[in-house]
Amino acid sequence: MLSTTVVHVCRHCGSERLRKNGHAINGAQRAKCLECGRTFILEPKGPRYREKTKARVLATCQDRMSTRGIRRTFGVCCQTLMKWVGEKIQGWPEFVDTLLPSQAGDVLALDELWSFVHSKAQEGWLWIALCRRTRQIVASTIADRSQEGAKSLREQVPPDYRRRATRSDFWLAYEAAFPARAHRFCGKEGGETNHAERCFGTVRARLSRLGRRTYSFSKRSRASP
Ligand SMILES: [Zn+2]
Repeated sequence: MLSTTVVHVCRHCGSERLRKNGHAINGAQRAKCLECGRTFILEPKGPRYREKTKARVLATCQDRMSTRGIRRTFGVCCQTLMKWVGEKIQGWPEFVDTLLPSQAGDVLALDELWSFVHSKAQEGWLWIALCRRTRQIVASTIADRSQEGAKSLREQVPPDYRRRATRSDFWLAYEAAFPARAHRFCGKEGGETNHAERCFGTVRARLSRLGRRTYSFSKRSRASP
């Protein structure tokens, strides 16, 4: 009879003092190190997905499918997907390097988009400053809807756009952050912030995480006769 004994050691500290610690979602044995307390997969199975599958998943991710939808369809867990997305954006140019230079007469439209994490009590606002000439978002931040959020957006605006005129709706938080000489409050009917609002409309239509019943869904409750 031929038998072999495998001694497993902790992947983090090298200790042999391990104990079993349940199974991962794919059935692989998990272990816990009694020295450092870290947990890990005892025998990782290595790359499970073919490059073709990975490319398809990433293409689907750019479409409207949610991360959970991808998990249900392709069996790729959210952590793996986020890792792939992280790998894909490696080497992309820095955001500020993609912006067109500012010109005299440029106007920034400011707006904020509501969303939440886990429950509606934990709300978050995505603030953007969009250049009306180039249609580029020149600054963005995620914060609450207070003056701090507006100030955070202001800090993100690149230096050569900082002296340009700005327009926003009548949300008073903007008043504290954007200088009155260059800022003007406008109603939606004036059309001054249309591009920023349209941008959010597109984002809500394309990203399922930000979807709302007022976007992409028929307002009729049943098919018309
Ligand atoms: Zn250890």
